[in-house]
Amino acid sequence: MHTIITSLSYKPKIDALIKRINRHRRIINMIIAVKMLESIRNPTPDQLEFIVAYGDRALIPEIPRLYRLAKNMNREDLIMMLQSLWEKYGCPSPIECPKCGFRAIMPDLICYVCGNIVSENYIREKLSFKEKFDEYVKNASLAELNDIMNLGFVLLGEIDVKSPRYRIEAWKKIYYPVHLRQSDIEKIIEEMGKRKQEY
Ligand SMILES: [Zn+2]
Repeated sequence: MHTIITSLSYKPKIDALIKRINRHRRIINMIIAVKMLESIRNPTPDQLEFIVAYGDRALIPEIPRLYRLAKNMNREDLIMMLQSLWEKYGCPSPIECPKCGFRAIMPDLICYVCGNIVSENYIREKLSFKEKFDEYVKNASLAELNDIMNLGFVLLGEIDVKSPRYRIEAWKKIYYPVHLRQSDIEKIIEEMGKRKQEY
């Protein structure tokens, strides 16, 4: 073995071997990180760092717990690493949670990561409901406008407002239910009046 390592003629072979080991090291580290995540309830800061650094997409279901641990240790660096994992493999929402900073506000207005509940007002403001609703009312059919008045709510997403009749699940995009206020209903009635005059 000694002669192999010291002999220059074998160097390319050793380089290739090291490259192979390095390629596998990440996978081996990932397996160790996942095992640690499963078996250690209260990891030390070093253990947590290893888990977050190598766990990769396997960490997604455990992100709420990992976030709590990192938060308790005051490890903003680890929180940022978890955030980028969430962005890459999780289900990033159109808006950020004001408490933990993750884009993890689900359609029930609860943050998947920290459990914080945001208000409908927050959703309305962050996603510019007013502009999107105006656009929606202008383009919806009379039947659809009647329908949402009866339902009393619409769905608000990153780019537009939709009727709750649309099959949102099929798009894999997050939409939030927004209840119609008096001013929204007045807007619909006004639009209906305009259309009736046109006929
Ligand atoms: Zn949160």
